[in-house]
Formats: sequence, C-alpha cells, structure tokens
Amino acid sequence: MTDALPDGVERREFDGTERLATRGEPVYGEPTEGEWRAWNPDRSKLGAMLELSMDTGLEGGDDETVLYLGAASGTTVSHVADFAGPTYAVEFAARPVRDLLEAVASRPRLFPLLKDARKPETYAHVVESDVDAIVQDVATRGQARVALENRRFLADDGRLLLAVKARSEDVTREPAAVFEDVRTELEEGYEILESERLEAYHADHLGVVARPR
Ligand code: SAM
Repeated sequence: MTDALPDGVERREFDGTERLATRGEPVYGEPTEGEWRAWNPDRSKLGAMLELSMDTGLEGGDDETVLYLGAASGTTVSHVADFAGPTYAVEFAARPVRDLLEAVASRPRLFPLLKDARKPETYAHVVESDVDAIVQDVATRGQARVALENRRFLADDGRLLLAVKARSEDVTREPAAVFEDVRTELEEGYEILESERLEAYHADHLGVVARPR
C-alpha cells in the first residue's frame, strides 16, 4: 500500500481537521479554505479509496485523461477535473446532469455526456481512446459488464478504478459473495491489482484497482 496522492490532491486543514482537498469552485456545500475545497470521502468512493491509501495510479496534471462513468451531479468528478486533464463525465439520468452542468461551468476540462455507460458506442466518437483512467461508480446491476464494455477506451497501462455496490447486484446475497462474482467476471478483461472494502465510508461497497489484460 502506498499513500501516493495525485498531483493537485493534498491533505489540508479545514477547521482544525486534516482532509483531502483539491483546488476548484465548491460543488456540494463542502468546506473551503482559500481556493481549496475539502473532498468528502463519505460522499465519494474515489475519495474513500484515496483515504484508504489504495494505489490508484492517478498522477494528476493536464496530460492525464479520465473517463468517469456514473457522474451523477458531479460530486466526485468535479474533484477529478480539478486535478486531472480532460475528464469525460458519463451520466444517463437527465436530472443530475442539470446540476453537473454547474460544476462544468468553472471547469473547462470537464465534458458532460448524457449517455448510457452500457452503450459505449454512443460516445466513442467523443471520448478519446487510450484514457489513463476509467473511474466507475454506476451503482447498477451488471457493474463488471459496464467496466468490460468500456475497457476499449483504456490505455494498455491505464487503470480501472471501480466502486462496486453489492446491493445493486443482488440485495439478497452476502456482499462478499457478490464481490467474488464481480471480481471473477472482471478478470475476463482486467487484472485486479488491489481490492478493498470501503466499509469505513460506504457500507457494502468494494473498491477495485485493475489494469487491462
Ligand atoms: N459517482 C457519483 C459521485 O461520487 O459523485 C455518484 C454516482 S451514483 C452512486 C450512481 C450514478 O450512476 C447515478 O447518478 C446513476 O444515474 C448513474 N448510472 C447508473 N447506471 C448508469 C448507466 N448505465 N449509464 C450512466 N449512468 C448510470
């Protein structure tokens, strides 16, 4: 385990408490200090993965491209766009995308796409291939399949940073059994480098770091 934070993500003090932070306009009522805003891991699976020192491989910087699946109203993807380069934010529900557009207004490198992540061919003409990272948090049935279908966008040395919600797959099964099935399916196209329960921040969620096979 390493504690390598991407460039542009720092631990800073907010009201006497050290928290992850990025530089950008606030999006979800998070505390700010000057141009920095706190990144709340209770509201963000990627934030939780960083807090748990998972080795995401994210480096930060203008050259890093990210495809984000399940952007919702922009809580996490806005932090990503604060530290990374071109960030494509896929979300299929119109309502959260309206809020996402507010986060986009101050982030010229954040590109919202009102698209279904199960149909990558509908945004293949917009998203550049060979992105450095796919961040996925769709909380829907078939989470491994979505990751496999979007693998085509990922550079050979890129990383999949996946949050799996057990209850979205099957509310009746033990999360551990669901996670095992998801891991097995993922291995059709990815090598799993690390996986960890996000329990401290998100009940019945698994964080996965993987690279394409
Ligand atoms: N990642 C967000 C964050 O941290 O700010 C929260 C995402 S929320 C848990 C899951 C989102 O995925 C919802 O907004 C939902 O509409 C979206 N979603 C689910 N299935 C999807 C699909 N097939 N394509 C695009 N978005 C999807």
